[in-house]
Amino acid sequence: MEPIVGIDLGTTNSEVAYIIDKQAEVLKDHDDGIVPSCVGLDPEGGIIVGSAAKNQAVVAPERTVLSIKRRMGTDETVDLGPDAYRPQEISAFILKALKSRAEKVLGRPVAKAVITVPAYFTDAQRHATREAGTIAGLDVIRIINEPTAAALAYESQRSGTRRVLIYDLGGGTFDVSIVKIEAGVVEVLASTGDNHLGGDDFDRKIIDLLVEQCRTGLKISVTDDRAAMARLRRAAEAAKIQLSAAPFARIEEDHIGMRDGSPVHLSHEISRGDFEALIDHDLSRTMASVNQALSDADLLASQIDRIILVGGSTRIPAVSEMLAAKFGKLPHSGIDPDLCVAVGAAIQAGREMGLEETGVLLDITPYTFGTAAIGELDGALTVDMFVPIIHRNTKLPTSRTEAFSTVSDNQQRVQIKVYQGENPNALDNVLIGTYMFDLTLAPAGSVLLLNYTLDLNGILKLEAVEKKTGRKINAVIENAFSRQSKEAIAASQDRLESLWNGPDAPSGPVADHPAQGDAADGLPHDVAALLARAAGKMPDAHEEDRAEIAQLMADIRAAAKGKDADALTAPMAALEDILFYLE
Ligand code: AMP
Repeated sequence: MEPIVGIDLGTTNSEVAYIIDKQAEVLKDHDDGIVPSCVGLDPEGGIIVGSAAKNQAVVAPERTVLSIKRRMGTDETVDLGPDAYRPQEISAFILKALKSRAEKVLGRPVAKAVITVPAYFTDAQRHATREAGTIAGLDVIRIINEPTAAALAYESQRSGTRRVLIYDLGGGTFDVSIVKIEAGVVEVLASTGDNHLGGDDFDRKIIDLLVEQCRTGLKISVTDDRAAMARLRRAAEAAKIQLSAAPFARIEEDHIGMRDGSPVHLSHEISRGDFEALIDHDLSRTMASVNQALSDADLLASQIDRIILVGGSTRIPAVSEMLAAKFGKLPHSGIDPDLCVAVGAAIQAGREMGLEETGVLLDITPYTFGTAAIGELDGALTVDMFVPIIHRNTKLPTSRTEAFSTVSDNQQRVQIKVYQGENPNALDNVLIGTYMFDLTLAPAGSVLLLNYTLDLNGILKLEAVEKKTGRKINAVIENAFSRQSKEAIAASQDRLESLWNGPDAPSGPVADHPAQGDAADGLPHDVAALLARAAGKMPDAHEEDRAEIAQLMADIRAAAKGKDADALTAPMAALEDILFYLE
C-alpha cells in the first residue's frame, strides 16, 4: 500500500508522522522528532534544513530563513544567499527534508501527504501550502486544520459520541474549534478565533507595567532605550512563565538606566493575581470566541465532553480555571502539545490509506466567502457591500450557484471579485481574486450562472456557465496572491533538486562550533571570537535582538572583508554592548 504521511508544517518546528503497527508515530532522526522550520545554504551553496540551518543562522543570517510560514500566501520573496525565493519554495525545502526523513525511516519512497494548516489560514495560504508540497514532490492529498488534527490525536481511539472543544492559544494567535466524533466520523461543528491574540500580548501588558514602574518609581524613561526595552521584554516573558508555576515572580534588572549620573536598578514583584488582572480582558475575549463557537455549533457548555488545550499560553493556570468554571470539568493537555498535531495528521493520513474503514473527516470553512455589490452601509450607498455566498461554518466540500444578468447589450465581459471574511464592507475582508469571464455577445439581461465550490481543503474554485448556450466559460484570474503556473512549479522543482545535497543532507551532522565558517574565512581572531560569542547567544535571544545582532554581525563581516579597521569599531562596540546585556 502506498504510504501517506502526516505533516505538521509549523512556524517554528515541523514534524512528520506515520501509522506504524496501528499507532501514529512521529518519525525520528537521532532521537528527535522535531525538525526546526529553518532553511539555509551551506558555504558550498547546498541546502540545509532543520537543526543544521538553525545553528548556522547565527553565523550566516543572510544564508538562513526562519518562520517562513508567516509569509505563506503572499507574493513576498526572501533572500537566501545570492537568490530570492518564494515562501512556497522555502517551505518545499522543509517538506522535502520531512519526506526524506520518512523515506529513510520507512525504507520506501514517500510521495503523498496530509498537511495541517491553522484553521484561520486563508485560501491563498492553503494554496501556497499545496504548491509547497508539489514542489517538494509530495502530492498533498488533503489539507486539514490543526485543531481538527489535535482532536483526532486525542479522540480517534474512543467509542461513542463525543463533542470536543479545542482551545488553542499560542504566542500570537487564538483558535477555538468544536468537533463531534461519532463512529469514527469527525465532524467540525464550528471554528473561530482571533489572529491577533496570544502570549505576546500578555508579555506586553507586563512590559507596560514595568515601564510605568521605571517612570514613577525610578524616575527614568526607558522607552527610547532599545537595550533596556529588550531586557524588559525578556524579563516579562520569563516572569509570565514563572507565574504559571509559582504565586509570585520577582523581576530584578540591574543598571536598567541612569539617574543623575548614577545607575538605577529595577526590582519589582508581580503576583499571579496581578498578572491575571492584567490579562483578564484578553482571556474574556477568548471566552467570547468560545461562546461564539458554542452558539455556532448549537451546543450548550454542558454538552461538551472534553476540552483539549493546545499552544504554549494554555499553560497559564487561569486559562484552565476559566474553562473549568465554564464547562464544569478540567481541560486535558495529555499529549505533547508539540507533537499532537502531527499525530493527528498521521491518523488522517492512515484513514486516507483506508487503514480505518469508518474514518471520515467532515471539516467546515471558518470564513464566509462572498462578493461585493451595490448596497447600503452605515446609511450610505456603496459598491463595496459584502454579499455572502458561502457562509462560515458550512461543511466542506460545498457548492453554491448564483445567477447574474448582463446589464448591457453585447456585454463583453463580467468581472467578479471574491472576498473572504465577515465584515459588511467587502474591502475590510481578504480579497481572494478577481475573476474575469469573456461572454458570448448577447442582449442585455442574459443570464450567467456562477458556481462557487469550496473543496475539502477549503480551497475555492469558480466556474461560470451561460444559461442560454450552456457554454462553460473559463475565468481569467487575477489573484491577490499569484499562484504559480505549472511551468513555474516545474522550474521551482528543478531548482530545489539542483540545490539538494542528497537525502541525508538536511539531517546530517551539525557544525558544533558555530564560528568555524568565520575562522575559515580568515577573519582576525578577535573578530571571529566576537562573532562566535554572538552566535552562541542568538538561539536564546529575543527576536528583535536577534535581528539586531544579525545585522551587526553582517556589518562586521562586511567591514572585515573590506579590511576597513575604522568601519569595524562601531558595530563591534554595539555588538559587545548587546552581548553584555544578554550575558
Ligand atoms: P506556541 O506558539 O504554542 O509555541 O506558544 C508560545 C507562547 O506560549 C509564548 O507566548 C510563550 O511565552 C508562551 N508560553 C510558553 N510556556 C508558557 C508557560 N509555562 N506559561 C505561560 N506562557 C507560556
